[in-house]
Amino acid sequence: MQVGIIGLGVVGLSFASVLGSKGISVIGMDSDFQKIEKIISKKSLFFEPKLESFLKKALSKSLEISSDIEKIVKNCDLIFLTVGTPKSKSGFIDLSMIKNASKNIGVSLRHSTKKPIIVVKSTVVPGTTTNVIKPLIERASRKKAGKGFEIIANPEFLREGNVIDDTLKPHLVVIGGSNKNSVNRLKKFYSKLYGSKIKFMTTNTQTAEMIKYANNSFLATKISFINHISSLCQSISGTNIDEVAEGIGVDPRIGRLFLNAGPGYGGSCLPKDLETIIQFSSKIGVNPVLLKAVQQTNDLQIKQIVQLIEKKLISVKNKRITILGLSFKENSDDIRESRSIELIKILLRKNSKIIVHDPKATKNVERIFMNKITYANSLSEALLNSQCVVIMTPWRVYTKLNNNDFQKMKKKLVIDTRRILSRKNLNVEYLAIGLGLN
Ligand code: NAD
Repeated sequence: MQVGIIGLGVVGLSFASVLGSKGISVIGMDSDFQKIEKIISKKSLFFEPKLESFLKKALSKSLEISSDIEKIVKNCDLIFLTVGTPKSKSGFIDLSMIKNASKNIGVSLRHSTKKPIIVVKSTVVPGTTTNVIKPLIERASRKKAGKGFEIIANPEFLREGNVIDDTLKPHLVVIGGSNKNSVNRLKKFYSKLYGSKIKFMTTNTQTAEMIKYANNSFLATKISFINHISSLCQSISGTNIDEVAEGIGVDPRIGRLFLNAGPGYGGSCLPKDLETIIQFSSKIGVNPVLLKAVQQTNDLQIKQIVQLIEKKLISVKNKRITILGLSFKENSDDIRESRSIELIKILLRKNSKIIVHDPKATKNVERIFMNKITYANSLSEALLNSQCVVIMTPWRVYTKLNNNDFQKMKKKLVIDTRRILSRKNLNVEYLAIGLGLN
C-alpha cells in the first residue's frame, strides 16, 4: 500500500520516519514550506530522541517529502491526517487546519480514480470525523464516502520525549469506522507494521474519538490527584509523596504511572484536550464538575510553587531567581503550555529577575520572553549570584546537581518541584513539592 501523511509535526513526522525507515513507501506532506525544506535537508524540526536518525534512514529508503497534496491523494491508498488541532482563543478545539486539509483532499479527489482510506489520527472531539471531516471531503470531491473514499478515526497515543519508541510499539491501536472492509485493510496494514501481537480495539468513529479524550482526561486526573495528595503531604511533617505514590501504585487497581507529583501537567495535549472536553461536556448538557476540579488543581500547583519561593524570600521583587528546565517534560524541547513558562510569567509580574537554563528548549523560550529574562549557557552561569533556584523539568543533568554547584549562589535556596535531589546530601535550604517539613 502506498501511504500518505498530511501534517508533518510531532505525530506526522514520527510516523513518516518510522514507516520510511522500515521501507514502507510513504509520502509526507506539510503546508509549511520552511518545514518541508528543513525535513528534506534531513533535520528534525524539534528535539526528540532518535527522531533525526530515523528520519535520515527513512529519507534514504522510502520516505518522500512533498508540499503537494494532490500527489498524495492521487497516489496513496491510505492517507493519514496528522495536522494540528490546537486550542482556539475560546479554549475550544480549533478545527481550521483539519477543515482546510479535508477540503484540499476533497478537491484533489474530484478527478482522481483512487478510492483512498482517509485515516484521522489528529485528536478531534466525538462526532468530528463523521459530521465535519466526511461532509467536507464529500462536498469538495463531489463523491460520497463509501463510494469515492472511506473514512476512519484512528487516534494517536504517543508521548513526547518517547515518540519513536511509542510509534514503533504502541500499547493499542484504536480503529473507529463503519466500513468493515476498510477497517480490515487498516488492521492488516498495522499488523504488517507491528506484528501479529499488536492489540486492536475496533469501534465506531465517535467512540474512537472519545477514547482519546477519556485517555487524556484520566491521565490529567491522575496527575491532579497525586498533586492534591502532595499538597497534603507538604503540610504534614515528615511525609513523603513518592512513598505514598509507591504505596498506592502497587495496587493493581491504581498503578504507579502518572503518579509523580510536580508542578502540574503541561504540553501540547493534556491542557488543550481537557479544556476542549470540558467545553464539549457543557455544550451537550453534561456538567464537567470532575474535570474542572482537575484543571483547577493543576492551576493551583504553580501558585503553590510561587508561595514556597515567597515564603523564603519574603518578597521576590528584584530577586535573582533561576529556573532550571523550560520544556514541559525532559527529553523534549516542546514548551507548549509548559508550567515553567507560567512560573516565569508570574515572577516577571512580581518584578523578579529571571535567569533560565534548559538543555534543549532555550531557543523556543527566547521567542516568548526576548530580553525580559536572561538565558544561561551553563548551569554554573545560571546559578551564579542567584537567590533561589527552582528545578522545574527533571532533565538528567539536574539530577547530578550537588553542593559544589550551589556554592556560588547568593542565597542557597533550592526548590525542587520534582524531588530529583536528596535533601540529606545537600548543604542548602531545600524545599520540595510533596515533602513535609521536619
Ligand atoms: P504539530 O502542531 O506539531 O504539527 C501539525 C502539522 O500540521 C504542522 O507541521 C503544520 O504545518 C501541519 N499542517 C497544518 N495544516 C495543514 C494542512 N492544511 N495541510 C498540511 N499540513 C498542515 O501537531 P502534533 O503535535 O503533531 O499533533 C497533531 C495531532 O495529533 C493533534 O490533533 C494532536 O492533538 C494529536 N496528538 C499529538 C500528540 C503529541 O504528543 N504531540 C500525541 C497524540 C496526539
